[in-house]
Amino acid sequence: MPIDNWLGALPQPDHSATDSDLLCLAECGSPFLTDACVSNQIERLSGHLDARHKEVRRQVIAYSLYTRQVDAMLQSGPRAFCGGRCPTPPAGCCNYNHYVVMNITDVMNSQNSPTALHMAHTIGLLQQQQSGHNGAGRTMSLRYCSLLAEDGCTLRLVKSPRCAHYMYDALKQSILEESAGAAKLFLAAIKRVESSTISSPDSFASQTVIDEGALLFLPHQGQA
Ligand code: SF4
Repeated sequence: MPIDNWLGALPQPDHSATDSDLLCLAECGSPFLTDACVSNQIERLSGHLDARHKEVRRQVIAYSLYTRQVDAMLQSGPRAFCGGRCPTPPAGCCNYNHYVVMNITDVMNSQNSPTALHMAHTIGLLQQQQSGHNGAGRTMSLRYCSLLAEDGCTLRLVKSPRCAHYMYDALKQSILEESAGAAKLFLAAIKRVESSTISSPDSFASQTVIDEGALLFLPHQGQA
């Protein structure tokens, strides 16, 4: 599995914070992931990220667990829709460097918390590492987003909030129709995070996405 393959390849300079990170994060509730998957992800990222910056490290690990769950939801159906019925191939919505966590609007926001800025920087470093790892042997598109390979995105675990949550209108309509309207709250939450100005750790993710996503997608799939 590409995500575990990348986690396994991450350099591990310092495991001094791993036990306390596991204690703090493992019980937070990740309904789309197995306990083993959660523990492994916490251990590998804790061993890799700077042990001195506890708050940022934990926020980034929590965000990575969140994005892995969003990824699991997309894998259960919506991603196939994008591959088969995208109205603007070959790049679709990946027509620009949307992977940048803080765009100009976010950066100009005077309310930015230092933790959010530090998170954006740390996620950016992880993105470069993951794209290099996952892009090995693949042909990059050289147009559109610079992390896009010809066969798709080179990121899975550390996408920006915009990339992780973006859904174009036809896809949202399809999810809504297939669920007979039950996906309304889920789609509203997805849209809220996708279009938020990134200013604090809370603006990266939404518990409503997980809760409503579990109602929609978990009956139809196993855990990642
Ligand atoms: S990072 Fe991936 S999902 Fe985001 S725009 Fe680039 S190719 Fe698309």
